Amino acid sequence: MSTLEAQRTIPFFNYSHFFESQEAELTVIFKEVGCRGAFILQKDNREFEKHLAEYTGAKYAIGVANGTDALIIALRAAGIGAGDEVIFCSHTYVATAASIHFAGATPIAADCGPDHMIDSDSVRQKITAKTKAIMPTQLNGRTADMDALQAIADEYNLIIIEDAAQGLGSKFKGKMAGTFGLAGTISFYPAKTLGCLGDGGAILTNDEEMYHKMNLLRDHGRDEKGEIVAWGLNSRLDNLQAAFLDAQLKRFPKVVKRRRQMADLYQRLLSDISSLTLPPAPDMDTRYFDAYQNYELEADNRDALRDFLKQNGIGTLIQWGGKAVHQIEQLGVRASLPVTEAVFKRCMMVPFNTSLSDEDITYVCGKIREFYDA
Ligand SMILES: *Cc1c(COP(=O)(O)O)cnc(C)c1O
Repeated sequence: MSTLEAQRTIPFFNYSHFFESQEAELTVIFKEVGCRGAFILQKDNREFEKHLAEYTGAKYAIGVANGTDALIIALRAAGIGAGDEVIFCSHTYVATAASIHFAGATPIAADCGPDHMIDSDSVRQKITAKTKAIMPTQLNGRTADMDALQAIADEYNLIIIEDAAQGLGSKFKGKMAGTFGLAGTISFYPAKTLGCLGDGGAILTNDEEMYHKMNLLRDHGRDEKGEIVAWGLNSRLDNLQAAFLDAQLKRFPKVVKRRRQMADLYQRLLSDISSLTLPPAPDMDTRYFDAYQNYELEADNRDALRDFLKQNGIGTLIQWGGKAVHQIEQLGVRASLPVTEAVFKRCMMVPFNTSLSDEDITYVCGKIREFYDA
Protein backbone atom coordinates (compact mmCIF):
# COMPACT_ATOMS: atom_id res chain seq x y z
CA MET A 1 0.00 0.00 0.00
CA SER A 2 1.43 3.39 -0.92
CA THR A 3 1.67 6.17 1.67
CA LEU A 4 -0.75 8.28 -0.31
CA GLU A 5 -3.41 5.59 -0.18
CA ALA A 6 -2.94 5.08 3.53
CA GLN A 7 -3.58 8.77 4.16
CA ARG A 8 -6.76 9.06 2.14
CA THR A 9 -9.85 9.98 4.12
CA ILE A 10 -13.22 9.96 2.44
CA PRO A 11 -15.90 11.36 4.70
CA PHE A 12 -19.50 10.44 4.03
CA PHE A 13 -20.61 14.07 4.20
CA ASN A 14 -18.65 17.09 3.07
CA TYR A 15 -20.90 19.97 4.10
CA SER A 16 -18.34 22.76 3.69
CA HIS A 17 -17.52 21.75 0.11
CA PHE A 18 -20.58 23.51 -1.34
CA PHE A 19 -19.69 26.84 0.27
CA GLU A 20 -15.94 26.55 -0.31
CA SER A 21 -16.32 25.64 -3.96
CA GLN A 22 -18.63 28.59 -4.66
CA GLU A 23 -17.63 31.08 -1.99
CA ALA A 24 -17.21 34.05 -4.35
CA GLU A 25 -20.61 33.65 -6.02
CA LEU A 26 -22.45 32.97 -2.76
CA THR A 27 -20.85 35.97 -1.09
CA VAL A 28 -21.99 38.25 -3.91
CA ILE A 29 -25.55 36.91 -3.55
CA PHE A 30 -25.45 37.42 0.23
CA LYS A 31 -24.32 41.06 -0.14
CA GLU A 32 -26.71 41.81 -2.96
CA VAL A 33 -29.79 40.39 -1.19
CA GLY A 34 -28.67 41.96 2.09
CA CYS A 35 -28.27 45.42 0.58
CA ARG A 36 -31.75 45.19 -0.92
CA GLY A 37 -33.14 44.19 2.47
CA ALA A 38 -35.03 41.46 0.65
CA PHE A 39 -35.50 38.78 3.27
CA ILE A 40 -39.08 37.46 3.13
CA LEU A 41 -40.99 36.41 -0.02
CA GLN A 42 -39.24 38.76 -2.41
CA LYS A 43 -38.33 38.51 -6.07
CA ASP A 44 -35.57 35.95 -5.46
CA ASN A 45 -38.16 33.57 -4.04
CA ARG A 46 -40.57 34.19 -6.92
CA GLU A 47 -37.82 33.68 -9.49
CA PHE A 48 -36.64 30.49 -7.87
CA GLU A 49 -40.21 29.17 -7.75
CA LYS A 50 -40.61 29.98 -11.44
CA HIS A 51 -37.32 28.28 -12.38
CA LEU A 52 -38.06 25.23 -10.23
CA ALA A 53 -41.46 24.84 -11.90
CA GLU A 54 -39.81 25.15 -15.32
CA TYR A 55 -37.11 22.63 -14.46
CA THR A 56 -39.53 20.00 -13.13
CA GLY A 57 -42.32 20.66 -15.59
CA ALA A 58 -44.77 21.36 -12.77
CA LYS A 59 -47.33 24.11 -13.29
CA TYR A 60 -46.57 25.65 -9.90
CA ALA A 61 -43.80 25.59 -7.31
CA ILE A 62 -44.03 27.08 -3.83
CA GLY A 63 -41.02 27.70 -1.59
CA VAL A 64 -41.52 26.66 2.04
CA ALA A 65 -39.40 26.41 5.18
CA ASN A 66 -38.39 22.75 4.86
CA GLY A 67 -39.36 19.42 3.32
CA THR A 68 -41.40 18.32 6.32
CA ASP A 69 -43.57 21.44 6.34
CA ALA A 70 -43.98 20.92 2.61
CA LEU A 71 -45.61 17.54 3.30
CA ILE A 72 -47.83 18.82 6.10
CA ILE A 73 -49.02 21.75 3.98
CA ALA A 74 -49.71 19.49 0.99
CA LEU A 75 -51.72 17.05 3.12
CA ARG A 76 -53.74 19.81 4.77
CA ALA A 77 -54.45 21.54 1.47
CA ALA A 78 -55.65 18.18 0.12
CA GLY A 79 -58.14 18.05 2.99
CA ILE A 80 -56.54 15.08 4.73
CA GLY A 81 -56.95 14.96 8.49
CA ALA A 82 -58.59 13.23 11.45
CA GLY A 83 -60.05 9.80 10.68
CA ASP A 84 -58.08 9.40 7.44
CA GLU A 85 -55.36 6.86 6.72
CA VAL A 86 -52.38 7.57 4.51
CA ILE A 87 -50.20 4.73 3.21
CA PHE A 88 -46.46 5.36 3.03
CA CYS A 89 -43.38 3.20 2.55
CA SER A 90 -41.67 2.38 5.85
CA HIS A 91 -38.22 2.75 4.26
CA THR A 92 -38.32 6.53 4.54
CA TYR A 93 -37.35 9.33 6.85
CA VAL A 94 -39.55 9.70 9.93
CA ALA A 95 -40.68 13.05 8.49
CA THR A 96 -42.92 11.30 5.95
CA ALA A 97 -44.92 9.59 8.70
CA ALA A 98 -44.65 12.58 11.04
CA SER A 99 -46.28 14.84 8.46
CA ILE A 100 -49.23 12.43 8.21
CA HIS A 101 -49.42 12.37 12.01
CA PHE A 102 -49.32 16.16 12.32
CA ALA A 103 -51.93 16.58 9.60
CA GLY A 104 -54.13 14.64 12.05
CA ALA A 105 -54.30 11.43 9.99
CA THR A 106 -52.94 7.93 10.67
CA PRO A 107 -49.75 6.77 8.95
CA ILE A 108 -50.00 3.19 7.61
CA ALA A 109 -46.67 1.59 6.73
CA ALA A 110 -46.21 -0.43 3.52
CA ASP A 111 -43.30 -2.62 2.44
CA CYS A 112 -40.64 -1.84 -0.13
CA GLY A 113 -39.56 -3.88 -3.13
CA PRO A 114 -36.08 -5.07 -4.11
CA ASP A 115 -35.20 -1.59 -5.46
CA HIS A 116 -36.08 -0.18 -1.98
CA MET A 117 -39.04 1.76 -3.43
CA ILE A 118 -42.65 1.47 -2.24
CA ASP A 119 -44.15 -1.88 -3.26
CA SER A 120 -47.54 -1.45 -4.93
CA ASP A 121 -48.74 -4.95 -3.93
CA SER A 122 -48.08 -4.08 -0.31
CA VAL A 123 -49.95 -0.77 -0.75
CA ARG A 124 -52.96 -2.68 -2.08
CA GLN A 125 -52.98 -4.91 1.01
CA LYS A 126 -53.04 -1.88 3.33
CA ILE A 127 -56.12 -0.23 1.84
CA THR A 128 -59.15 0.12 4.14
CA ALA A 129 -62.36 2.14 4.03
CA LYS A 130 -60.42 4.97 5.75
CA THR A 131 -57.58 5.19 3.22
CA LYS A 132 -57.47 8.64 1.62
CA ALA A 133 -54.01 8.90 0.12
CA ILE A 134 -50.80 7.16 -0.88
CA MET A 135 -47.57 8.98 -0.11
CA PRO A 136 -44.70 7.30 -1.95
CA THR A 137 -41.16 8.35 -1.09
CA GLN A 138 -39.06 9.03 -4.17
CA LEU A 139 -36.12 7.51 -2.35
CA ASN A 140 -32.41 7.76 -3.07
CA GLY A 141 -33.01 9.89 -6.17
CA ARG A 142 -35.35 7.42 -7.86
CA THR A 143 -38.99 7.84 -8.85
CA ALA A 144 -41.23 4.89 -7.99
CA ASP A 145 -43.25 3.01 -10.61
CA MET A 146 -45.96 5.65 -10.75
CA ASP A 147 -48.08 3.70 -13.26
CA ALA A 148 -48.66 0.98 -10.68
CA LEU A 149 -49.50 3.49 -7.94
CA GLN A 150 -51.76 5.55 -10.18
CA ALA A 151 -53.70 2.40 -11.13
CA ILE A 152 -54.37 1.74 -7.43
CA ALA A 153 -55.25 5.38 -6.81
CA ASP A 154 -57.72 5.33 -9.71
CA GLU A 155 -59.28 2.06 -8.57
CA TYR A 156 -59.84 3.19 -4.98
CA ASN A 157 -60.25 6.91 -5.61
CA LEU A 158 -57.16 7.89 -3.60
CA ILE A 159 -54.99 10.98 -3.66
CA ILE A 160 -51.25 10.68 -4.35
CA ILE A 161 -48.87 13.06 -2.61
CA GLU A 162 -45.23 12.39 -3.40
CA ASP A 163 -42.49 12.77 -0.83
CA ALA A 164 -39.87 13.72 -3.39
CA ALA A 165 -37.53 15.20 -0.74
CA GLN A 166 -34.81 12.97 -2.23
CA GLY A 167 -36.23 12.79 -5.72
CA LEU A 168 -35.39 16.05 -7.46
CA GLY A 169 -34.06 15.44 -10.98
CA SER A 170 -35.21 11.82 -11.17
CA LYS A 171 -37.86 10.70 -13.65
CA PHE A 172 -40.23 7.85 -14.36
CA LYS A 173 -41.06 7.49 -18.07
CA GLY A 174 -39.70 10.96 -18.74
CA LYS A 175 -41.74 12.70 -16.06
CA MET A 176 -40.04 14.32 -13.08
CA ALA A 177 -40.46 13.25 -9.46
CA GLY A 178 -42.89 15.50 -7.64
CA THR A 179 -45.13 16.11 -10.66
CA PHE A 180 -47.27 12.93 -10.64
CA GLY A 181 -49.50 13.39 -7.63
CA LEU A 182 -51.87 16.11 -6.49
CA ALA A 183 -48.71 17.60 -4.97
CA GLY A 184 -45.06 16.63 -4.58
CA THR A 185 -42.54 17.95 -2.10
CA ILE A 186 -38.80 18.68 -2.23
CA SER A 187 -36.24 19.26 0.53
CA PHE A 188 -33.22 21.54 0.24
CA TYR A 189 -31.60 20.27 3.44
CA PRO A 190 -27.81 20.52 2.89
CA ALA A 191 -27.38 16.76 2.37
CA LYS A 192 -29.89 16.68 -0.49
CA THR A 193 -28.75 16.84 -4.11
CA LEU A 194 -29.91 20.46 -4.31
CA GLY A 195 -29.00 21.72 -0.86
CA CYS A 196 -29.08 25.22 0.58
CA LEU A 197 -27.13 26.79 3.44
CA GLY A 198 -29.69 25.76 6.05
CA ASP A 199 -33.26 24.48 5.88
CA GLY A 200 -35.49 24.87 2.86
CA GLY A 201 -38.21 23.08 0.92
CA ALA A 202 -40.70 23.37 -1.92
CA ILE A 203 -44.03 21.97 -3.06
CA LEU A 204 -44.89 21.24 -6.67
CA THR A 205 -48.42 20.97 -8.03
CA ASN A 206 -50.34 21.11 -11.29
CA ASP A 207 -53.59 21.90 -9.51
CA GLU A 208 -54.59 25.56 -9.33
CA GLU A 209 -56.81 25.17 -6.29
CA MET A 210 -54.07 23.32 -4.38
CA TYR A 211 -51.64 26.05 -5.38
CA HIS A 212 -53.83 28.77 -3.89
CA LYS A 213 -54.53 26.83 -0.71
CA MET A 214 -50.86 26.02 -0.16
CA ASN A 215 -49.83 29.61 -0.81
CA LEU A 216 -52.20 30.71 1.95
CA LEU A 217 -51.10 27.95 4.31
CA ARG A 218 -47.41 28.85 4.12
CA ASP A 219 -47.94 32.54 4.92
CA HIS A 220 -50.46 33.06 7.73
CA GLY A 221 -53.43 32.65 5.41
CA ARG A 222 -52.62 35.91 3.63
CA ASP A 223 -53.66 36.44 0.03
CA GLU A 224 -51.80 38.50 -2.62
CA LYS A 225 -53.16 41.71 -1.09
CA GLY A 226 -51.88 40.73 2.33
CA GLU A 227 -55.40 40.16 3.63
CA ILE A 228 -56.00 37.21 5.92
CA VAL A 229 -58.57 34.93 4.35
CA ALA A 230 -57.88 31.58 6.05
CA TRP A 231 -55.95 29.94 8.88
CA GLY A 232 -52.30 29.64 7.99
CA LEU A 233 -48.83 28.78 9.22
CA ASN A 234 -45.51 30.52 8.94
CA SER A 235 -43.51 28.31 6.62
CA ARG A 236 -41.79 30.47 4.04
CA LEU A 237 -38.58 29.69 2.22
CA ASP A 238 -36.06 32.36 3.30
CA ASN A 239 -35.56 34.74 0.41
CA LEU A 240 -31.78 34.51 0.86
CA GLN A 241 -31.89 30.72 0.62
CA ALA A 242 -34.07 31.05 -2.48
CA ALA A 243 -31.40 33.28 -4.04
CA PHE A 244 -28.68 30.71 -3.25
CA LEU A 245 -30.87 27.92 -4.60
CA ASP A 246 -31.70 29.77 -7.80
CA ALA A 247 -27.99 30.03 -8.57
CA GLN A 248 -27.51 26.31 -7.79
CA LEU A 249 -30.47 25.22 -9.89
CA LYS A 250 -28.70 26.44 -13.05
CA ARG A 251 -25.94 23.89 -12.47
CA PHE A 252 -28.24 21.16 -11.23
CA PRO A 253 -28.47 19.18 -14.50
CA LYS A 254 -24.66 18.91 -14.37
CA VAL A 255 -24.86 17.66 -10.78
CA VAL A 256 -27.33 14.96 -11.82
CA LYS A 257 -25.07 13.99 -14.71
CA ARG A 258 -22.08 13.66 -12.38
CA ARG A 259 -24.07 11.62 -9.87
CA ARG A 260 -25.09 9.20 -12.62
CA GLN A 261 -21.44 8.90 -13.66
CA MET A 262 -20.48 8.17 -10.07
CA ALA A 263 -23.18 5.49 -9.84
CA ASP A 264 -21.94 4.00 -13.08
CA LEU A 265 -18.39 3.87 -11.71
CA TYR A 266 -19.49 2.17 -8.47
CA GLN A 267 -21.52 -0.26 -10.56
CA ARG A 268 -18.60 -1.15 -12.80
CA LEU A 269 -16.16 -1.57 -9.91
CA LEU A 270 -18.45 -3.56 -7.60
CA SER A 271 -20.87 -5.53 -9.76
CA ASP A 272 -18.85 -8.78 -9.68
CA ILE A 273 -18.75 -8.97 -5.87
CA SER A 274 -21.38 -11.58 -5.01
CA SER A 275 -21.66 -10.46 -1.36
CA LEU A 276 -23.18 -7.16 -2.50
CA THR A 277 -26.56 -6.19 -3.93
CA LEU A 278 -26.19 -2.91 -5.79
CA PRO A 279 -28.90 -0.33 -6.52
CA PRO A 280 -30.26 -0.34 -10.10
CA ALA A 281 -27.59 0.78 -12.57
CA PRO A 282 -28.17 4.06 -14.48
CA ASP A 283 -29.17 2.36 -17.73
CA MET A 284 -30.69 -0.83 -16.40
CA ASP A 285 -34.34 -0.01 -17.11
CA THR A 286 -35.07 2.85 -19.49
CA ARG A 287 -38.33 3.74 -17.74
CA TYR A 288 -36.29 5.01 -14.81
CA PHE A 289 -33.97 7.99 -14.84
CA ASP A 290 -32.29 8.06 -11.42
CA ALA A 291 -30.58 11.11 -9.93
CA TYR A 292 -28.78 9.07 -7.22
CA GLN A 293 -29.37 11.19 -4.16
CA ASN A 294 -27.66 8.26 -2.39
CA TYR A 295 -25.91 5.07 -3.37
CA GLU A 296 -27.59 2.59 -1.06
CA LEU A 297 -26.35 -0.96 -1.47
CA GLU A 298 -26.87 -4.15 0.50
CA ALA A 299 -23.89 -6.03 1.90
CA ASP A 300 -23.28 -9.37 3.57
CA ASN A 301 -21.50 -8.96 6.90
CA ARG A 302 -22.40 -5.28 6.71
CA ASP A 303 -21.34 -4.11 10.14
CA ALA A 304 -17.86 -5.64 9.82
CA LEU A 305 -17.53 -4.09 6.36
CA ARG A 306 -18.43 -0.68 7.78
CA ASP A 307 -15.85 -1.09 10.56
CA PHE A 308 -13.19 -2.08 8.05
CA LEU A 309 -13.98 0.93 5.83
CA LYS A 310 -13.93 3.23 8.85
CA GLN A 311 -10.44 1.98 9.77
CA ASN A 312 -9.45 2.94 6.25
CA GLY A 313 -10.80 6.47 6.53
CA ILE A 314 -14.02 5.84 4.63
CA GLY A 315 -17.30 7.10 6.06
CA THR A 316 -20.51 5.15 5.47
CA LEU A 317 -24.04 5.57 6.78
CA ILE A 318 -27.13 3.48 7.38
CA GLN A 319 -30.14 5.50 6.42
CA TRP A 320 -32.54 6.70 9.17
CA GLY A 321 -30.19 5.59 11.94
CA GLY A 322 -30.71 1.96 10.94
CA LYS A 323 -34.48 1.67 11.43
CA ALA A 324 -37.46 1.81 9.12
CA VAL A 325 -40.33 3.87 10.53
CA HIS A 326 -42.35 0.85 11.69
CA GLN A 327 -39.29 -0.35 13.63
CA ILE A 328 -39.24 2.77 15.82
CA GLU A 329 -41.23 1.36 18.77
CA GLN A 330 -42.07 4.70 20.37
CA LEU A 331 -44.03 5.91 17.33
CA GLY A 332 -46.45 3.01 17.38
CA VAL A 333 -46.64 2.59 13.60
CA ARG A 334 -46.81 -1.18 13.78
CA ALA A 335 -46.54 -3.50 10.80
CA SER A 336 -44.83 -6.64 9.64
CA LEU A 337 -42.88 -5.82 6.52
CA PRO A 338 -40.57 -8.69 5.54
CA VAL A 339 -38.71 -7.05 2.64
CA THR A 340 -38.01 -3.82 4.53
CA GLU A 341 -36.90 -5.79 7.58
CA ALA A 342 -34.52 -7.89 5.47
CA VAL A 343 -33.18 -4.78 3.72
CA PHE A 344 -32.42 -3.09 7.05
CA LYS A 345 -30.14 -5.94 8.07
CA ARG A 346 -27.95 -5.36 5.01
CA CYS A 347 -28.35 -1.81 3.71
CA MET A 348 -25.74 0.92 3.91
CA MET A 349 -24.72 3.95 1.90
CA VAL A 350 -21.21 4.52 0.56
CA PRO A 351 -19.69 8.00 0.08
CA PHE A 352 -21.51 9.78 -2.71
CA ASN A 353 -21.07 13.53 -2.28
CA THR A 354 -20.01 15.53 -5.34
CA SER A 355 -16.66 16.53 -3.83
CA LEU A 356 -15.48 12.97 -4.60
CA SER A 357 -13.17 12.27 -7.50
CA ASP A 358 -13.14 9.08 -9.56
CA GLU A 359 -9.93 8.15 -7.70
CA ASP A 360 -11.77 8.46 -4.36
CA ILE A 361 -14.51 6.12 -5.57
CA THR A 362 -11.92 3.69 -6.95
CA TYR A 363 -10.22 3.72 -3.54
CA VAL A 364 -13.52 3.01 -1.74
CA CYS A 365 -14.29 0.13 -4.10
CA GLY A 366 -10.76 -1.24 -3.72
CA LYS A 367 -11.20 -1.38 0.04
CA ILE A 368 -14.60 -3.07 -0.25
CA ARG A 369 -13.00 -5.71 -2.49
CA GLU A 370 -10.11 -6.11 -0.04
CA PHE A 371 -12.64 -6.79 2.74
CA TYR A 372 -14.43 -9.57 0.85
CA ASP A 373 -11.21 -11.09 -0.51
CA ALA A 374 -9.80 -11.52 3.00
C1 LIG B 1 -34.93 14.93 4.03
C2 LIG B 1 -36.21 14.22 3.94
C3 LIG B 1 -37.40 14.77 4.44
C4 LIG B 1 -37.46 16.01 5.27
O1 LIG B 1 -36.95 17.15 4.71
P1 LIG B 1 -36.53 18.36 5.68
O2 LIG B 1 -36.23 19.46 4.70
O3 LIG B 1 -35.32 17.93 6.42
O4 LIG B 1 -37.67 18.66 6.54
C5 LIG B 1 -38.59 14.08 4.22
N1 LIG B 1 -38.60 12.91 3.58
C6 LIG B 1 -37.48 12.35 3.10
C7 LIG B 1 -37.56 11.04 2.36
C8 LIG B 1 -36.23 12.96 3.29
O5 LIG B 1 -35.13 12.38 2.84
